[in-house]
Amino acid sequence: MSVDDAISPVAGVLRPIHRVCVIGAGTMGAGIAAHLANLGFSVTLLDATQQSTIDGLARAKIAQPPPFYVSDRASEIRVGNTTDHLEWAAECDWICEAIVERAEEKKLLYARLDPILPEWSFVTTNTSGLEIKMLAEGRSDQFRRTFVGTHFFNPPRYLKLLELIPTEETDPAFLGKLRRFLEHRVARRVVIAKDTPGFIANRFGMWSMFHAIHVAEKLRLRVEEVDAITGPFLGRPASATFRLNDIVGMDIMRDIASNLLERCPDDPYKSALLLPQTVHGLLARGWIGQKTGQGYYRKESNEFLALELQNFAYRPQRPADFPSLAEIEKLPLGERIAKALQLRDEVGEYLRMYLIPTLKYAYSIKDQVSHCVDDFDRVMEWGFGWHMGPFRLLDAIGHEPFGIDPQPFYQAGGQITRTGNYAPIPRETEFAPLSDYAIVAKGENHVIRDLGEGVSAISTTTKMGVITPALVEELIALLESNRVGRFVLTSEARSFSVGYDLHAFQSAILDDDFPRIEHILTRLAYLGSLLETRQGVAALKGHSLGGGFELALSCTHIVADAEAKIGLPEAKVGLIPGGRGVPLTRVNNQFTTKRLCEVAGNLIAGTVSSNAEHARVLGYLRSTDTTSYHPDRLITTAREVALETTSLPRQEWLPAEGPLGGMIDRVIDQGKQRGELTEHDVMIAHEIKQIYAKSTSFEDGVLRERARFLELCRKKFTQARIRHMLEHNRPLRN
Ligand code: NAD
Repeated sequence: MSVDDAISPVAGVLRPIHRVCVIGAGTMGAGIAAHLANLGFSVTLLDATQQSTIDGLARAKIAQPPPFYVSDRASEIRVGNTTDHLEWAAECDWICEAIVERAEEKKLLYARLDPILPEWSFVTTNTSGLEIKMLAEGRSDQFRRTFVGTHFFNPPRYLKLLELIPTEETDPAFLGKLRRFLEHRVARRVVIAKDTPGFIANRFGMWSMFHAIHVAEKLRLRVEEVDAITGPFLGRPASATFRLNDIVGMDIMRDIASNLLERCPDDPYKSALLLPQTVHGLLARGWIGQKTGQGYYRKESNEFLALELQNFAYRPQRPADFPSLAEIEKLPLGERIAKALQLRDEVGEYLRMYLIPTLKYAYSIKDQVSHCVDDFDRVMEWGFGWHMGPFRLLDAIGHEPFGIDPQPFYQAGGQITRTGNYAPIPRETEFAPLSDYAIVAKGENHVIRDLGEGVSAISTTTKMGVITPALVEELIALLESNRVGRFVLTSEARSFSVGYDLHAFQSAILDDDFPRIEHILTRLAYLGSLLETRQGVAALKGHSLGGGFELALSCTHIVADAEAKIGLPEAKVGLIPGGRGVPLTRVNNQFTTKRLCEVAGNLIAGTVSSNAEHARVLGYLRSTDTTSYHPDRLITTAREVALETTSLPRQEWLPAEGPLGGMIDRVIDQGKQRGELTEHDVMIAHEIKQIYAKSTSFEDGVLRERARFLELCRKKFTQARIRHMLEHNRPLRN
C-alpha cells in the first residue's frame, strides 16, 4: 500500500480505501456506484427500499451514455437498503451519500450513521449546493472533522470535475490525502470550492443557464438561434443552451435555482434565478427534458424537433441564419467574441444582453465562492466543457466591454491575487498533456517530444493518426538509427490512429499494382518487428484502429485511455488485418481454443470496442497492458511504464488444442443464420479461420495473412467496400 492510496483519518490510522458505500441509487448515486465499480472498488449501494435500489441499478445498466465499462460490473455491486442494511455502511471505508437534495433527509441519515461508523471510515455528500457545515450540524467531532462535499458531475463516468468542499472544521491533513486519493484512485480533477450555496459550479453555472433563457425569451429568438450563438462559437460544447437544459432537466434546474434563491437572499443579481416562463411551461406539461423524451427539443424518429417558445408547439428545426457568425467564427475565441459584441444584429444584441452580465456576475462572486480565478475557470472548463472559463475568457476578449478593472487576471504563468500581485500557478506535471512537452526533433509526419528521464514521445502528426507509407518509412528510419531510447508511441491528434490510409490501397488497386500493396504490408510488418524489440509503450486514446492498433500491439506494452475505442475493423472494408494483427491476436489469446474462437469472431465481425475494458473482453488488449483511468494522466502513465518496460520475446506459437477450425466454422454458420454475415463476409471469415487454425508458426501466420490480404484486394466486393468507405465514410454491406 502506498501513502497515496490511503487516507489517514483523525485517529491516525492509515487505511487503504477499497470498500465504498454509496447511499442513494438515483441518477447520481447509481452513476457514482458504476464509476467506482469500473475503477475496481468494492461497492455497496443502498437506497431507501430494496426495490428502489434494484430499480436504480437496473436503470443505470441501460442508461445512455453507459455508466458501466462492461455490464458485468453491475453484478459485482452489493445491493441493499437503508432500513435493513445500514450496518453494511459500517463495513466500508468511505460512505458517499447521494440521496435526494433535502437537508432534513440527509441530516436524518447522518444521525443514524454517526454512531455506527468505525473511526477509520468517513462520510462525504454529493449535494449540489447545500452548505456542508449546515449538514454536519449536531454530528460528533469525529464525523465533522472528516465530513466534506464530494460533488461529482453528471454523468460521473464522463465528467472529470469533482468539487471538493471542506468546512472550517475539516482536518487539513485528511483533506490533503483525500484530494490525492480522489485525483489518483477516483480519476477526477479536483477543485476545492468554498462552502457557500451552490459552490462554484451551480452558483455560477445555473445563473448563466437561467440568464441565457431569460434573454432568449425577451428577444424572442428561436432555440436553434440561441444554440448557434452559445455553442462552439462561444467556445462551449454543441449542447449550447437549450440542449444542455434538456440534458440537465427542468426539475433539477428549478430545484437548484430555488435553493440558491432561498440561501443567497442578499445576492443583488438573484432575480436571474427566477423561473423563466418557458421552464415554467415545460414543467407544467411534464416535458422536463431528455428524461421524458422532450423539453426544448423532442426526438421524433430520427429527427429533433424544436420547441416554439411562444406557443409550446414542436416543429422541424430551422437552422439559424446568421451571416455575421459565419464571417468571424474562424477567428481565435477572444477576438471573435470581442467582434461579435459589436455586431448590430441579433447575435450582437443577444451577446451584449447575455454574456456581459454573465461574466460580470462571475467577477462579482469570485471571492465569495472560489479561492482563486484559476479554480473558478477550471470548474467551468472541466464541469461544463467551456474552452475557457470566465476569467481566461475576459482576458482574451479584453475587459473594456465589461467595464471591469483592466488589470489581467493572468500574466506570465501567474494568476492575480487579492492584493493585485500575481502568484504562480503550480505546474501539475502529472496531468500535463502531450503538448506541454518540448519538441526536440521533427519529421514530415511525426515529431519527437522529450518526456524527461530519457523517455521520448514518438508522436505522429498525420490527420487522425492515419498510418501512411511515408510515416512508416520515417518511423523505420528513426528506429533503425537508434536515435530514440525508451519511448512512448502516440499521436498529436485526438485519436491514436484511425488505421492505415485506405487511399494507398485504393490507388494501387486502380493502378493494378499489387506488388505495391505487398510492399506496403511488408514494410508495416517490418516496422512492427522493430517496435517489438524496443523499450516502447503505445499510448492509446480516441480511436485506435486497424494498422495503427497493429503497431501498438507490436509495442512491448500498451497504456490505453479508459475511453479508447480499440479494434481491427478491416472486415468492414472487405479485408483482414495486414500488419500482423491476425497472428498477434492469435498468440495473445491462445490460452484456450474457446478464447481463440471468440477472438476470431470479433475479427470476422470487425468489432471495435466501446472502451479499453471492453477491448480486453474482445481479446484486443493483453492482460499485461494497462488501462489509464484518469482522462488527464495517459502520457504520465505511459511515461512511467516506459521507464520500466523491457522487451520480452514473443510467446511461442502453440497449436490449438481441439478442433479450432470446426469451432470457427460454427461461429460463421451462426452469423450467417442470424443474417449478420453476407457471402463476402463469410469469405473473409474463412481467411481468418485459416490463419488461426492452420498456421504452424508466427512467421507462417504473417505470410499467410499477407497472401490472403493481397488476394482479397483483387476481389470486386473488397474494392467496392474500400471505395464506399472513402467516399461516404461508412461501411458498405455487400
Ligand atoms: P434522484 O432523485 O435521482 O435520486 C435520489 C435517490 O435518493 C432516490 O433513489 C431516492 O429513493 C433516494 N433516497 C431518498 N431519501 C433517501 C434516504 N433517506 N435513504 C436512502 N435513499 C434515499 O437524485 P439525484 O439526481 O441522483 O441526486 C442525488 C444527489 O446528488 C442530490 O444531493 C443532488 O443534488 C446531487 N447532484 C445531482 C446532480 C444531477 O445532475 N442529478 C448532479 C450533481 C449532484
